[in-house]
Amino acid sequence: MVQRIARLRRNPYNTASNRVKIVKTPGGRLTFQYLEKRSKGAHCGDCHAPLHGITRYVRTESSRVSQTSKHVTRAYGGSRCAKCVKNRIIRAFLIEEQKIVKQIRKSKAPELRRRERAIEKQKAATLLREQKAAKEKAEKLAQRQPRRADKQTRAPRKQKK
Ligand SMILES: [Zn+2]
Repeated sequence: MVQRIARLRRNPYNTASNRVKIVKTPGGRLTFQYLEKRSKGAHCGDCHAPLHGITRYVRTESSRVSQTSKHVTRAYGGSRCAKCVKNRIIRAFLIEEQKIVKQIRKSKAPELRRRERAIEKQKAATLLREQKAAKEKAEKLAQRQPRRADKQTRAPRKQKK
C-alpha cells in the first residue's frame, strides 16, 4: 500500500510558493522536502530574450554573490543582450554621423547660395545679350529691306483670307 504523507507546514495547498518533492529518509520513511521558488533569470530589457552567462538567483540571494556571476563583461552586460547592444552602438554612430553632416551643410549653405546666385546672374546676362543680338539683327534686316517689299509680301496673304 502507498504511504500517505502530510505536509509539514501550515499551508496544505499545492501552490507556486508551496511546492514539495518526496524524499526517502535514511529511516526508510517518505517525507516532503520543501522546494524554493526559482527565478526566471535575467532577460534583455529590449527584446526580452534570456541573457546568457548569468546565474539565476532566488530573491535576496543575488545580493550576497559576486558581481562576476551577475553580468558579462560588456557594455550593458547584465541588462541587454549582445544583439541589442550592437544595434544601440550602430544607432548612436549613425546619429553622430547625421549631426556631422548637418553641421557641414549648415557651414556650406551660404557658399552654395552665393554660387547659385552667381550662376543665375550669368544666365540672365547671357539671355539679355542674346535678346540684344536678336534685336540688332532684326533692325539690320529691316534697314536692308525696304518697306515696300514688306507690303508686297503681306498683301497676297490678306487676299487669301
Ligand atoms: Zn535584446
